[in-house]
Amino acid sequence: MTVQQEAAGGEALEVWIDQDLCTGDGICAQYAPEVFELDIDGLAYVKGADEELLQAPGASVPVPLPLLADVVDSARECPGECIHVRRVSDRVEVYGPDAE
Ligand code: SF4
Repeated sequence: MTVQQEAAGGEALEVWIDQDLCTGDGICAQYAPEVFELDIDGLAYVKGADEELLQAPGASVPVPLPLLADVVDSARECPGECIHVRRVSDRVEVYGPDAE
């Protein structure tokens, strides 16, 4: 188990992006292209299972466990501080600007 998985307590996590704060630098899409992608508006979005970018504000996708470290690194490095990783069970943020 990685450090990130232990911190998450083995719980299912999901991730969403606050596009209002996204700078469009694309760091997240470099770290975890399976989860994040820039759209033609220059902002990053999370990707659904069918590779569709989810445009609805606050839309979230599950974080696949093998990609957790990449997603957490994205949240840590995100210049806009707008990548939020939370537990599915109680929606408490575990990585991102609102994490304790
Ligand atoms: S790293 Fe953050 S600011 Fe940069 S494109 Fe991704 S969500 Fe936007």
